[in-house]
Amino acid sequence: MIRKLLIANRGEIALRIMRAAKALNMQTVAVHSKADSELLHVRLCDESICIGPANPQQSYLNIPAILSAAEVTGADAIHPGYGFLSENATFAEQATQSGFIFVGPTASTIRTMGDKITAIETMNKLGVPTVPGSNGPLPNNPDDQKKIAQRIGYPVLIKASAGGGGKGMRVVHNEYQLRESILEAKKEAKNAFMNDEVYAEKFLTRPRHIEVQVLADQYGHVVCLGDRDCSIQRRQQKIIEEAQAFGLTQQQRSELYQICINACEKMNYEGAGTLEFLFQDSQFYFIEMNTRIQVEHPVTEMVTGIDIIKEQLRAQSGEAFNFTQEDIQFRGHAIECRINAEDPTTMLPSPGTVRIFHPPQGFGIRVDSHLYTSYKIPHHYDSLIAKIIAFGDTRFSAIQSMRQALAETVIDGVKTNISLHKKILNDQSFIDGNTTIHFLKDFFTLQKETASV
Ligand code: ADP
Repeated sequence: MIRKLLIANRGEIALRIMRAAKALNMQTVAVHSKADSELLHVRLCDESICIGPANPQQSYLNIPAILSAAEVTGADAIHPGYGFLSENATFAEQATQSGFIFVGPTASTIRTMGDKITAIETMNKLGVPTVPGSNGPLPNNPDDQKKIAQRIGYPVLIKASAGGGGKGMRVVHNEYQLRESILEAKKEAKNAFMNDEVYAEKFLTRPRHIEVQVLADQYGHVVCLGDRDCSIQRRQQKIIEEAQAFGLTQQQRSELYQICINACEKMNYEGAGTLEFLFQDSQFYFIEMNTRIQVEHPVTEMVTGIDIIKEQLRAQSGEAFNFTQEDIQFRGHAIECRINAEDPTTMLPSPGTVRIFHPPQGFGIRVDSHLYTSYKIPHHYDSLIAKIIAFGDTRFSAIQSMRQALAETVIDGVKTNISLHKKILNDQSFIDGNTTIHFLKDFFTLQKETASV
């Protein structure tokens, strides 16, 4: 078993990882930037070490600093969390070469899945259905680009091969917009990922985002922990997630799970992973795989009763699973609301000092958050400050509990998107499950129209 775990992340996920490690009796090491010395997990871990200035490039993305911290503290494993270096193959490679257990799949799997073009190609070969598209990077010649777009059929979506966080994406409705949109997407991708390779995919007009959670040990056992619906997104960023996705038939589920399990077995996948799909007209289309723990993992934990981070740590310590697919039972329904420190309408970040933090409580309510009263939210990082998760025996009872949880939550001193969540949870289309990935865009348009009447 891992003896001492270094947590290469910050905020709520660092705290979450620390708790799982402690439950397994591991020693924990926090690494933090100069702006983060007051973080809760920094205070609660057995040891903490400052790895650089506030700028993430010089701290949470600084591979030599993190590996040195692991070395000097005598850690034997590194958990990368999500974001930052979690899907950086070089980091995984260097950590392993330096003798540490990297909590995640091998560097070569991360590399294959990190490039969306190779990921799609690989999945296609493994029998996973994908979105019709360019089957490779877009060429530079405008005539060739036009031919490809015509073959796919408009509307077409231009996506960055190295993409993440919705960056480097452009929807193209006709031939006249094509060249300009490709150039824009390339520029954005170059700035964000230092890689301007883009590809094209059919833009699905009313899909849901449905993803599948997998977990694999080092002995070839792959289990599927079910699915999640993450269609409620703002600018390609998820804000509400649910498990299980509502309205799928048992047959759709078992076929999808089997496809994912087969693909992971053939890839020799290790650790936790998520296969993301778009779902439209009863068809699933693979879009990408995340080779790490995801923000929304708690909803799966609530309906399966499995602590995914503990299982990640056990599996990467070399333990075989002590359960099989048949042991995994899905019970009830769980919803997560991501609480961001931001203006609910403009979405602009709202860092500052939290004057009062009063989290909700009650049966079936879980709060994953690093906030505390008087904590100062720095402006250098992501605006996620809390995740509220509500469990109920049905989807509707989970919605009801979430409404109450949001009503009880007090976060004073900074702006948050709680008011937006409250509105969504009272929206009839949301309650009826009439949602696609465009739900929130339409919701905002409707609100503006109503306000101007
Ligand atoms: P990123 O890694 O940048 O988050 P993804 O490939 O995961 O990019 O896509 C993010 C979101 O963009 C999806 O959840 C979905 O809302 C939208 N999207 C992606 N591909 C398509 C597509 N082919 N058609 C319509 N929407 C898409």
